[in-house]
Amino acid sequence: MGKKKKRKKIEKREESKETETYKGDDDNIWDSGLNIIKGQDIHILVSEEISRLCKALEQRVDTEFMLYAKADFRTFPTITIQDIFFPEQEASYAYVKSLEKKPDEFNVVIHRHPHGNTQFSATDDEFLNNNSLISMLFTNGEFATATINIKINGTSFVQVETENIESEENYINVEPFLKKIRNVTQNTQPQQTWNKWNNKWNKWNGNSYNSYYY
Ligand SMILES: [Zn+2]
Repeated sequence: MGKKKKRKKIEKREESKETETYKGDDDNIWDSGLNIIKGQDIHILVSEEISRLCKALEQRVDTEFMLYAKADFRTFPTITIQDIFFPEQEASYAYVKSLEKKPDEFNVVIHRHPHGNTQFSATDDEFLNNNSLISMLFTNGEFATATINIKINGTSFVQVETENIESEENYINVEPFLKKIRNVTQNTQPQQTWNKWNNKWNKWNGNSYNSYYY
């Protein structure tokens, strides 16, 4: 990527004398070195343990419930959510409140909507989403949505919401396997042959022979 950028820069410089003004001693004058990640590329991967617990609890209680977890950013833009701190809590059909202080390192809060609403409520925003690094909503057997607070300066955060959430339970990293499958479709494609009975060409359409007037 970096090499490509550099080549473009050189081409531009040759193209026009105007670009001379942008030319500095440092060839990487435009390269800030920042790793820019678009909001839509953020992807949350929930541990199997957490999703199985949420699903199991969902079968047993008809109230809300909540738990805390830890976010691992080492594979960002994929954020892995793992570990569980399950507090003593009071809950009703439309309300949940922790009665225990969570350990600091648990920076994710997950709560469940028993009523199937896949959106955070105004109360969720005020008490959960604005007070945790990550807040996730579980409903109808899956994680519906999540907010992530990204720090801009000391007290200011930008809140990103994503529905790009997957459970490790269902997630298989197919990349190493895909690399081993060599697609030889192009090489084995049969040539078209003359069908003397119908006075037509038999033509391969990728799946089967199609009779085809020529
Ligand atoms: Zn809620």
